[in-house]
Amino acid sequence: MKIKEITAFPIRINNDSDKGRKINTKNINTAMLATKDMHKVKDIKKKYTKDLKLVNIEKKPNKSKAHLEIKSMDTYDSTIKDMGEYYIDESSNTSIYSKSHETTIIKVETESGIVGWGEAQSPVSPNTTATIVKDILKPLTIGKNIYDVESIWHNNYSAQRERGHYTGFYIDALSGVDIAIWDAIGKSLNMPTSQAMGGIHRKNVTVYNGIGGSTPEEVADMAEWSVSKGYKYLKMHLKEDIEQTLDIVNEVRKRIGYSIGLMLDVHMGFETYNAIKLGKELEKHNLLWLESPSDPTDIPGLCEISSSLDLPIANGEWTRTKYEMREIFEKRAYDISMPDIARTGLTGGKQIATIAQLYNIPISPHVGGGGIVAIAATLQYSINTPNFLLMEHSEQGHAVKAAILSESYDAKDGKYSLPSRPGLGLMIDEDKVEKYTIDPSI
Ligand SMILES: [Mg+2]
Repeated sequence: MKIKEITAFPIRINNDSDKGRKINTKNINTAMLATKDMHKVKDIKKKYTKDLKLVNIEKKPNKSKAHLEIKSMDTYDSTIKDMGEYYIDESSNTSIYSKSHETTIIKVETESGIVGWGEAQSPVSPNTTATIVKDILKPLTIGKNIYDVESIWHNNYSAQRERGHYTGFYIDALSGVDIAIWDAIGKSLNMPTSQAMGGIHRKNVTVYNGIGGSTPEEVADMAEWSVSKGYKYLKMHLKEDIEQTLDIVNEVRKRIGYSIGLMLDVHMGFETYNAIKLGKELEKHNLLWLESPSDPTDIPGLCEISSSLDLPIANGEWTRTKYEMREIFEKRAYDISMPDIARTGLTGGKQIATIAQLYNIPISPHVGGGGIVAIAATLQYSINTPNFLLMEHSEQGHAVKAAILSESYDAKDGKYSLPSRPGLGLMIDEDKVEKYTIDPSI
């Protein structure tokens, strides 16, 4: 069943309808909490500056002296740079973010008329990912048989091997094409993609809701709201110092008790020694994991954190291929692996899960800024993966992501069920995809 056409749609959907998002928080670097109203940036900046001074001067006088000399308070006064569509907090290890939901939707059509949909996660500059699809992956892939999907993944990866494009935009684009092919395969066989990938391990997938904020009250309010929606597992996204982080965890536990599974993502916010210090305190609060504690490229540091704590360490949303995972798994740099399927593709994600299984490492797929096609692909992946643990979700970000559908697709009571439709199980409204397309010329 030959591929006849591949089209990439770089889309941007405004967050205005997303009432659940919070903006009055310094925790602006998580997609889930992305600000939709940047005129409030000044207030955030003021608060952030105050907190940074507190952390760096009063709480870490010995170890952070050199750090302080490099980063003056003047630097902190202009930490958030607003670039129009995008913004960044320049004071810490944070990424560039979009004020809207941005991603690249990919359509693959076969000669027999079957249409598969994929997504290349593109939280910033989806035009770049779409251009890679149009200029490189489309000519590489057209004319191939959809059932050669693993061979297509390998050949498309190898096409840039000499150029050094082992990750980033190129692999995101490749992954979007891979997901679209897997959707077409499922549809052609009239079965869920998970079954076409090798089998169904479970029919229901437990998801956790992401919550955030910068005060104990804010985060605990969101935790209670999430529990009222049926979630049994919650993950806090925090960018606070150790003391404030522990105050927040305390308050959340006080409000929701110990029957709800609780996790914490600190978005690479700590040095190795402070991550260990925080982890030891967190062990008193019975968390399921501590996520992204430190610089992800510092594998020896991650090994030190993991070996120093009983608390499991979760990590890996930025890695994209099995090649990047070898050292991490061999050295047991962390305990739970978090591939993002709209960055690995279903083929690459399955390879990572299989290797993780050798090391008895569970998989908890990251979704983060991924859109609705990424969610549907991650669900099929979770259904297919034997060593699956929990899937990420954002109740409050879902409506914006689902704006390109003609039929609802949502979690209920903290779970997704195996869709009845074949392939990924989504009904995409192409008119809506075109409506949100930024640059139709790509
Ligand atoms: Mg994370």
